[in-house]
Amino acid sequence: MRIDLHVHTVRGSSDSALGLDELIEQARRAGLDGVGITEHNNYWHDPVWDEQARRAGLTIFHGIEVSTDCGHILAFGIEGYVSGIHKAAVLREVADHSGAILIAAHPFRRIFERGPHIHNLLKLQNPTVAEAAAHPVFRLVDAIEVANGGTLEEENEFAVDVARYLGLPVTGGSDSHSANSLGHKATVFDEPIRSMRDLIAAIKDGRGRAVDRLLLVGA
Ligand SMILES: [Zn+2]
Ligand SMILES: [Zn+2]
Repeated sequence: MRIDLHVHTVRGSSDSALGLDELIEQARRAGLDGVGITEHNNYWHDPVWDEQARRAGLTIFHGIEVSTDCGHILAFGIEGYVSGIHKAAVLREVADHSGAILIAAHPFRRIFERGPHIHNLLKLQNPTVAEAAAHPVFRLVDAIEVANGGTLEEENEFAVDVARYLGLPVTGGSDSHSANSLGHKATVFDEPIRSMRDLIAAIKDGRGRAVDRLLLVGA
């Protein structure tokens, strides 16, 4: 199964133009079996979306992308924004309480930018893999998004190295805010993922593989 685990829609992200019809149509074109909807600090769930998608052979997994003091974190299994989860340690507690999974989203975006002002998560220039792996976020999450559609390839590759160093599971997602990039990055599972419980277990056990568009075409 191919699931794009990082998607913003018009329904919950003011910076997105992706509606239900485009989502279904583009998911079909991209060969996706599922999408994870992860709006910024906003969880929603609409049975109409689920049902229309299901009829088109697409499973929607409802998650959330939380802005925290440790960067953006994707959560699946938390049904609603909970006060205090802008602190990653609190988000971890909430996740443990509800059996949710946490994924560090695009952790190394802007990591190789030069200049006097450093805007990346690590606040370091030219970090080594070991320095990056020491960031507290990686003791709080269950997995690392190593293929993100809004992130440079070298930043994604660095995330692969850090995930390997830490032995953490990986995911991929397009971070789409419009239809045309949907599915450009995704997570592939060799087993059917029918429910949120299946999804969480498969990621936690490291059974997901992050892939990019090239591997989706014709495969
Ligand atoms: Zn983000
Ligand atoms: Zn995002």
